[in-house]
Amino acid sequence: MRPNKSELIEMLSLQNKDEVEALYKRAYEVKRQNCGTVVYFRGIVELSNICTKNCFYCGIRKDNQSTDRYLMGKAEVLEAARWAWEQNYGSIVLQAGEREDAWYVSYVNELLQEIKTLSNSELGITLSLGEQTEEVFRTWQESGAHRYLIRIETSNPTLYKTLHPADHSFERRLDVIRTLKKLGWQTGTGVMMGLPGQTIEDLANDILFFYDEDIDMLGMGPFIPHHDTPLKHLVQGYDGDAALELALKMIAACRIALQDINIASTTALQALNPTGREMGLLAGANIIMPNITDTKYRGNYQLYDNKPCLDENASQCVHCLENRIASIGETVGYKEWGDSKHYQNSR
Ligand code: SAH
Ligand code: SF4
Repeated sequence: MRPNKSELIEMLSLQNKDEVEALYKRAYEVKRQNCGTVVYFRGIVELSNICTKNCFYCGIRKDNQSTDRYLMGKAEVLEAARWAWEQNYGSIVLQAGEREDAWYVSYVNELLQEIKTLSNSELGITLSLGEQTEEVFRTWQESGAHRYLIRIETSNPTLYKTLHPADHSFERRLDVIRTLKKLGWQTGTGVMMGLPGQTIEDLANDILFFYDEDIDMLGMGPFIPHHDTPLKHLVQGYDGDAALELALKMIAACRIALQDINIASTTALQALNPTGREMGLLAGANIIMPNITDTKYRGNYQLYDNKPCLDENASQCVHCLENRIASIGETVGYKEWGDSKHYQNSR
């Protein structure tokens, strides 16, 4: 059933502590019934911070001169993938800035084929590489990737315009989401919560957008201002606790409204509170994306300020995460892709 907008607004507007807690509990129960209490890991490889775009909020936007640009070499990517596979992770995510040049497209394609080979096709592969053409999506799909994450950032086209340069197109992003669905990818999108100019009604509309576009997965996080971007004036006065609470309420409202989709508890939650990702799980999320990028690159993949785990290597992250998940009574779904139940149910 299409979610009711005024109920969504009501959930997102809750301020009373007990009522907010009750919302999280309700969302947790919906998660338990639809997805159980197994958390799936997607090891995230931050393949490159080279980006041709200039989103106003993002720390690796093209015009930021204060970051050193990198592209991970093939051996490094394969090593990270092998590590994830040996740890019994079900899947990995390759994420990077956006570029569409032919050399890069075929580099990604080679990576996909080699990751599939080294893991006997066991590792699931999610891509988060921005906007691409239908042809590129077909090629990457044939080479073994099966999920794609591309956030719409906000479903309000007017707000979208205020956060991007004039040549960035909301329509194209929407088209990409529809193309991915059409091609049969498990399709993930999402928004940032707490964007300047964003209202509670916008967030409610975002949830209706996810419903109408029949989204399989969500990756959403709080907007966190970055000091080297056009939105740097928002660093001072940023209220991290309020941002975290809004983000958690959005996760909970999405779980209640959309039921059987996969929802990620994103790293940005942890940037605002050391236990932010557990809070996300308790508010209805069921996916965690542990960072498995070599620490030497992490300092240069700063989408927002205070990104956590900069100097922790992947195996340190695993132990700390497992403990955190056990501490809230959940288990990790090793060796399984953990596909979106929504995707399975809609086939
Ligand atoms: N280039 C790709 C993938 C990498 S960016 C893309 O844009 O799709 C991944 C996500 O980081 C973006 O979708 C955006 O929602 C998020 N992000 C960027 N800057 C951020 C900020 N300042 N605070 C929180 N999230 C941010
Ligand atoms: Fe590039 Fe993605 Fe950042 Fe936009 S959000 S500047 S596309 S990395």
